[in-house]
Amino acid sequence: MSNTTITVAYGDGIGPEIMKAALNILQEAGAKLDIETIEIGQEVYERGITSGIAPESWESLRRTGVFLKAPITTPQGGGYKSLNVTIRKSLGLYANVRPCVAYAPFVRTRHPNMDVVIVRENEEDLYAGIEHRQTDEVMQCLKLITRPGCEKIVRYAFEYARANGRKKVTCFTKDNIMKLTDGLFHKVFDEIALDYPELQNEHWIVDIGAAKLADTPEVFDVIVMPNLYGDILSDVAAQIAGSIGMAGSANIGEHGAMFEAIHGSAPAIAGQNIANPTGLLLSAVMMLVHIGQEDIAAKIHNAWLSVLEKGIHTADTATVQNSGETVGTKEFADAVIARLGRMPQILKPVSYDTTSKTPFTLKPAIRRVAARKELIGVDVFLHWRDGSPDELGLLMEAANNERLQLSMITNRGIKVWPNGMPETFCTDHWRCRYLSGSDQMAILHSDIIALLQRITDLKLDFIKCENLCNFDGETGYALGQGQ
Ligand code: NAD
Repeated sequence: MSNTTITVAYGDGIGPEIMKAALNILQEAGAKLDIETIEIGQEVYERGITSGIAPESWESLRRTGVFLKAPITTPQGGGYKSLNVTIRKSLGLYANVRPCVAYAPFVRTRHPNMDVVIVRENEEDLYAGIEHRQTDEVMQCLKLITRPGCEKIVRYAFEYARANGRKKVTCFTKDNIMKLTDGLFHKVFDEIALDYPELQNEHWIVDIGAAKLADTPEVFDVIVMPNLYGDILSDVAAQIAGSIGMAGSANIGEHGAMFEAIHGSAPAIAGQNIANPTGLLLSAVMMLVHIGQEDIAAKIHNAWLSVLEKGIHTADTATVQNSGETVGTKEFADAVIARLGRMPQILKPVSYDTTSKTPFTLKPAIRRVAARKELIGVDVFLHWRDGSPDELGLLMEAANNERLQLSMITNRGIKVWPNGMPETFCTDHWRCRYLSGSDQMAILHSDIIALLQRITDLKLDFIKCENLCNFDGETGYALGQGQ
């Protein structure tokens, strides 16, 4: 088998020492790799490159399509963009796979039977990064959920479950509140689940699902979720499995993959040879499986399990009960190297065969026939602080004409006109809904422009508008709270 070329970045803080330790183990295990090294993180940010990655480094990433990345330190303050989010989105790494496994009794956990894989959507949701200050008092972040995005991540989760002998895929959303965005994720989950009849599937509302995950994680197997819930709950899952310092992750896309520990650069312990290299090492194991070196991956994983069983720990996971010996980063790596070829005696040995690799190319999301879209109204958002909801209602009704009439005003989503409650707290951010009438007559964009002109003539500060449409006769917007 020929060598696979990969890109490696040593990162910041503890990055260089854990990367050295991990690469040492890979080399001694016989991984067939050619390594291209790139620089990312603090030093690059300090050169004035606000993305944290130099343009020439992209060439290596695109060429190799496989990136083993150490954590970096993100500079404090505005103006810097998260490098992780940039790399994930630029390279289309839509699936973030985070196995969270307990290693009891060798690593302390309240959940000795936990073996959960979180599959987190990686590109959209609130991480689209579209934020605006709209008024004195209100900031906005747009939550974008797309059908192709949902189809890719949900299908990936089912394919992963099938390829890895998993039994169940669970979906977490908050679709009782976000009926359109999270509702789409749930709907796509139900649709795609039909293609995998051999796998159980279930949906939980994310709040009670998170409580259940923290309490009895052993009832879950693979869990797929939108970006933000997945970000938060994969950290929770990694921590309750044993330690966040031990969890690895794979970011998978159609054109490449990035492998990294889920922890950060831990600057306080950098350069002291005390960091745990496990998170990065298990990420590298996922990488080896991904590039078809399953035998080397299993050899390393089993040697690492043997080290745990021997009671050899770095300081972060050592306890009086489980630790025979607390060692440094380098010595921990040496202990793994010394056990290459050995199998664990108590913990379940790992085997990776060619069918257990992370799926890479999936059935592409099919773009559907465009729906029949009818424009029937508009929500106009205002910055206004000069009176009560009823006074605003009177003002905004003055902008009515025969094509569009004011039907409702909300403040932070709650209906305050007509017939609002005096107790409702109002900010300076109002949404005024104009509809074309009870028969939902179709209107034109020019009707909206004319409405905005009348609102401008009334000397009101509109911030933005959102068109209200029906798609194939189905309402494409949410009702106001209390409407
Ligand atoms: P962190 O994960 O670096 O550290 C949290 C705690 O865990 C600290 O007490 C640290 O000492 C400990 N810890 C983390 N990894 C460890 C390991 N391998 N061995 C032993 N102990 C370990 O999180 P933080 O302190 O919030 O962030 C530090 C920096 O890392 C920040 O600049 C942050 O932006 C960055 N960060 C980077 C990534 C990444 O590059 N993927 C991810 C998260 C945070």
